[in-house]
Amino acid sequence: MNDETTNVPRVKKRRTVIALAVAAVVVGASLVQLAPPIAPEAHSAVLGVTDECAIGKDKKLRDQDYDDDQLPWRRAKGKEVVIFFETKGLTSEYLKHHRKAVELWDVSPCIKPQLIKDCPRDANCVTISLDDSKGGDDDGNFDAKEKKGFTIGGHITLYTENLEEAGKVETLNVVVHEMGHAVGLRHRKKKNVLMHGDTNKVTKPDTTDYYNLLVLYANQKK
Ligand SMILES: [Zn+2]
Repeated sequence: MNDETTNVPRVKKRRTVIALAVAAVVVGASLVQLAPPIAPEAHSAVLGVTDECAIGKDKKLRDQDYDDDQLPWRRAKGKEVVIFFETKGLTSEYLKHHRKAVELWDVSPCIKPQLIKDCPRDANCVTISLDDSKGGDDDGNFDAKEKKGFTIGGHITLYTENLEEAGKVETLNVVVHEMGHAVGLRHRKKKNVLMHGDTNKVTKPDTTDYYNLLVLYANQKK
């Protein structure tokens, strides 16, 4: 079935997705229980009368590269999942790229990505760092914190030296791509799309990416 790994040569600059082992989360679990109750507004925003995200119910994910894995955040029925992206430490150039990325992913009725300087306590939070060392062949990656089949946090690393070499359009591609992982999308097999594993010049999600978000967020187990 999966002949992808043997037939397709690995292209330089492949981005990696590393799902962290949940060990740290498990260790911290007892501390989490002591934390005050989570403010509901930190996790979800109320949708309009109809739950547009529910369109994905009973549909199947399309064009998935199962070499990498990624999990959605937990969504309360009828609500958008608010996911904060913490911008402290970003330069104005990278802040601009992230503003664009948030605008693009916010089109999905399932999620509500938001930039914020410091994440509210206990909110869904993705931190971001700019790394000016060469991260091997990586331009960026997303490390997810996962628990019981859901993403509960994460960190995006952007390797600025590699990105500078790659170019401005490619940098935006990587920023939007990593945010795509952070909202739950895995790589796609089709080449020259935003969520393919190789850096390219595509800077926007396509209908398949938005469709896959519907599927991921409309079919969650309780
Ligand atoms: Zn990737």
